[in-house]
Amino acid sequence: MTMKKPCVGISPCLLGKKVRYDGGHRRNRYITDILGKYFGWIPVCPEVEYGLGIPREPMQLVGDPAKPRLVTISTGIDHTDGMMKWAEKKLVELEKEDLCGFIFKSKSPSSAIRGVTILSPSGVECGIGAGIFGGAFIKHFSMIPVIDDDRLGDPVLRKDFLEKVFAFKRSRDSKEKKR
Ligand code: SF4
Repeated sequence: MTMKKPCVGISPCLLGKKVRYDGGHRRNRYITDILGKYFGWIPVCPEVEYGLGIPREPMQLVGDPAKPRLVTISTGIDHTDGMMKWAEKKLVELEKEDLCGFIFKSKSPSSAIRGVTILSPSGVECGIGAGIFGGAFIKHFSMIPVIDDDRLGDPVLRKDFLEKVFAFKRSRDSKEKKR
């Protein structure tokens, strides 16, 4: 019997969907043309699903590096609480999806799982952290393999991620069979 494709979450801008703040995308051909043959995608764009339009004002992380705020760059609108509330609901919904992995857009203040610059209120870099949804995801689903698109370019990290996704899928399938 052939294995059903593992379901993997993805930042849809990486699939070529025009959901970015500027109406553009960040299609990654390795993801769409190679990984797309083996994975079933579950796209999640936090900013659009939370209710921001396309195009929209870009955002950044500001404040305490342990608890940064998600704030629009020019007008200073703070979307942290709204985005956190949306993320909590979305994470519960995703529990029903049989997720075996997630590929996040790097450096996004909403989607990234690491490496996002955090600025002090005066605009000086004061830390590095995860985006609001990416950070909430890795806390909620601590066992699900995750990577960002930057790291997917590294052959060692990519292999490690892919092996973990397929191992996760096998383990989930065998638990299902025993039920
Ligand atoms: S919020 Fe995430 S998925 Fe949406 S456009 Fe930005 S990086 Fe891509």
